[in-house]
Amino acid sequence: MSTIWMNQLSWVDYEARMQRDPPAVLLPVGALEQHGPHLPLGTDGLLSAAVAADAAARIGALVAPTLSYGYKSQPKCGGGQHFCGTTSVDAATLIGSVRDAVREFARHGATRLVIVNGHYENQWFLTEGIDLGLRDLGPSAKLQVMRLEYWDFLTESTLASVFPDGFPGYALEHAAVIETSLMLHYHPSLVRVDLIPDEPPADFPPYDVYPTRKHWVPLSGVLSSARGSTVEKGAAMAAELSVRIAAAITHEFG
Ligand code: ZN
Ligand code: MN
Repeated sequence: MSTIWMNQLSWVDYEARMQRDPPAVLLPVGALEQHGPHLPLGTDGLLSAAVAADAAARIGALVAPTLSYGYKSQPKCGGGQHFCGTTSVDAATLIGSVRDAVREFARHGATRLVIVNGHYENQWFLTEGIDLGLRDLGPSAKLQVMRLEYWDFLTESTLASVFPDGFPGYALEHAAVIETSLMLHYHPSLVRVDLIPDEPPADFPPYDVYPTRKHWVPLSGVLSSARGSTVEKGAAMAAELSVRIAAAITHEFG
């Protein structure tokens, strides 16, 4: 049984792998969130799972099923909660899911859990779930947890070639060149290149207001242009992500 996908293993095969020499377990996390007219609602989880799978294949790790619902979309990095289709969970729900995952994988004998995040808004709630999960397990637990946002593994030189006119920053990179190019690489049949909107980048003030101001957000939901997305850029970024994430896991966990 050489699959990287945990949910394709029987419990018997899974237990044998965990007892022999427990592989690192990668847990992708995403969101169900509008990504403009040209990308699917599940983009964040599809990308974190694809990146996790590539990295796992390099180091003999397993990939657990994606946590597919994320924390509430924010106007300045995901467009906000007012779009039809965006389906989010309260912070307590996400924290609880991660806390439960930490406890369950520890019970299976996992010693290395890697949470691969694909949705900007999730970060601190993943951290809280990890912290509470490890606190539940106590100081004698053997489980170590790594949390990462996959985009942080792109190098300056790659960003310079992907954005010849300057990188707009990760927050505005919602449904834009990075995600669209990676989707063209991993899931080309899910990308509607013909529907990529042609709008200027969103221009947000340096504060938030609640209830959120829908008129701050472009009608398409895209925060900076996805024009300039190519499958070649996606392939180059995917290669860099898999190599560098695998190297980080090996560096920290052996
Ligand atoms: Zn996204
Ligand atoms: Mn997102």
